[in-house]
This record gives sequence, C-alpha cells and structure tokens, in this order.
Amino acid sequence: MLSILGRIEIVSLTDMLEVRDEDILVASHLKKYYRIRRGFNPFDRSKPKFVRAVEDVSIRVPKGKTVAILGESGCGKTTLARAITLLSPPTSGHIIFDGRVIFDGEGGKLRKVNYKKLYRDMQMVFQDPDSSLDPRLKVKDIIAEPCKGLLDIEKEAIDAIVMESLKAVGLSQEHAYRLPTHLSGGQKQRVAIARAIAPQPRLVILDEPTSALDASVQAQILNLLLSLQTNYNLTYILITHNISVAEYLSDFLVVMYAGSVVEQGPTASVIANPRHPYTKTLIASAPIPNPLKRTLLTTEIIGEVPSVINPPSGCKFNPRCSYAEQICREKIPELREISPGQFAACHLAEKIP
Ligand code: SF4
Repeated sequence: MLSILGRIEIVSLTDMLEVRDEDILVASHLKKYYRIRRGFNPFDRSKPKFVRAVEDVSIRVPKGKTVAILGESGCGKTTLARAITLLSPPTSGHIIFDGRVIFDGEGGKLRKVNYKKLYRDMQMVFQDPDSSLDPRLKVKDIIAEPCKGLLDIEKEAIDAIVMESLKAVGLSQEHAYRLPTHLSGGQKQRVAIARAIAPQPRLVILDEPTSALDASVQAQILNLLLSLQTNYNLTYILITHNISVAEYLSDFLVVMYAGSVVEQGPTASVIANPRHPYTKTLIASAPIPNPLKRTLLTTEIIGEVPSVINPPSGCKFNPRCSYAEQICREKIPELREISPGQFAACHLAEKIP
C-alpha cells in the first residue's frame, strides 16, 4: 500500500515513523548486526552469533536543526552514523533522506541510490583529522577532491569553491598550499570541515568533531560549526560522548546505550529533566566548571557496559541500574512518551525521582 505525504511517497508501514515536510532524514527501526566469524570446525553445529551494534533505532532529523547522538564509547553511535550514510548499510530498517527512500528493509536491501547525489547532499566530518586528511595532498586538493567527484563543474569553479570554503572556516589563501602536517590540530579540523561543506551539502554528520582537539580549540570549532549552520542552512547529526558539546550545539538529543536508544527529546528538556536513570547519571557526571556548584554524585553507574553479543535479558541497563526491579529483568522496556516530546525506555520512568 502506498501513502503520499506531501511530495514524499513512501511504502506505508504501520511501524514506520511518520515523515513530516520539515524532516530531512527519517530512519526507522535500524539494525546493524555483524556476524562473528568462527574458526574452521566441521563439527561445530552451534547457531551463528552476532554483534548487535545497533538495535532497532529510529530517529528523525528536522531541516536546519542539530540532532545529537550521545553515549559512551561502544554504544553504537558511530555505527549508526555509518549506517545512515550507507557507508556501512544497515542490516534492516528504513531510511528516507530528502523525500527519497535510500534504504528499505528486511534483509538489508539497498534501493537504487544515486550515490553522487546522495553524497553531494550528505557529508561527514570524521573524529580525527590526522587520519581523515591525506598527508600527501595540499589543503586545496583535499578540499577540491569531493567537488571533483560530486559536482559537474569546471576546474575554475572548483578553485573558487575551495577558496570560499577556506574563508568560511577561518583559514586564509596561504593555507591552501600547505600540507596537513604543517597545520595545527584545530587548523586540520577546519580543513576537514571545509572539505565537508565544499560540495554544498544539506546534511553534515559530525563524528566527535572536537574530541581530538585541545580544550582551547574546541570552543572555536563549536562556534565555527554554529555559524556555518546559520550561513549555509545546514542540518547536523552530531555524534558525541560529551554532554556539554551536545548541550551547546544540539536542538534534539538521542541517548544511546549498548546499541539502543534509551531516551530522546528536545535537548533542553532532556538535560533539565532526564527521565532514564542512565541519562540522569550521564548528566550528573558531566564536569561542572564552577567548583562552588560541584556536588558528590548521588547516582553512580556500577559495573561494566554489557556485551552486545549476549545482552542481559529485559532492560539492557538492569545489571547497572540501582532502581532495577523484577520486571526490568524480564521485559524489554519500550521507548514511550513520558512527557510531551520526551521519550524514555524505562519501565519505572514515572516512579524514579
Ligand atoms: Fe533501570 Fe528498570 Fe528503568 Fe531499566 S527499566 S533503566 S533497569 S528502572
């Protein structure tokens, strides 16, 4: 059955997120599993095992806004970003980008995707500029590279875009002729951002854009990202483990734990009134710059992150949750609306102070 939503035509699936005109991207029920390789043993009849890196994640990204995906290392946030960009396509789920279905479904069927158009509209800034920039290329060639592959324009036009992008990220013409090894960490990340904005994308995925930088440079890069968003009408998906960065840059927050979304909603609401015990602890453990306002943690996460190969039964957070009850060990909590626009996957969200 087909459903027409504005100019968007999608396969109608009752369990799929509704696509609104203001959304640039809607991802529904994404899963990303990796099969674990076994050694050669002809007598091994055991079932194959999978790393469940992303488990049933649904997000929507409104145009011109920033959605932050927050969680500790190994929670699946970067895998989710790579699945959304089709760099590593999901195992199953649905992705609609700019009104087109780019990934559809069961068994991981890829739609006939125009990758040239997709990557013109969707770019990524990687965490570590040292590994994402080719050390043998000059800055101007690094920035020109995606334009040559994605834009059907003459060399002179590409040169003009390169210079404009450099200026937009606060670098001068002189930097265009340097190698990345002759730049500071902050300058390298500016080059990575310039390369991402050069093809004039609509959505930019920022994978920990400041975590490899000195604290003094981080604020400059965050402010640069904010001004670029306004000037170029960009939409961001921000991948971060740093709640302060998420709070500063994002409009909506998605908190992930062991491959699943445990809480999501407007950033200000989630930070002011977190409803999931994991989010509460993440917020409580964020460093506070004012020593007079520091308090001892009242909620502490105990134990280790669970295995994503054999996750605990029921709520995956139950072995570490100080509020866990019997139901938490038996039943997987659904992500449900606890207050207007704010969702949490916790059986006891209403009871927990
Ligand atoms: Fe804790 Fe239970 Fe809520 Fe999971 S469902 S976060 S174990 S209270």
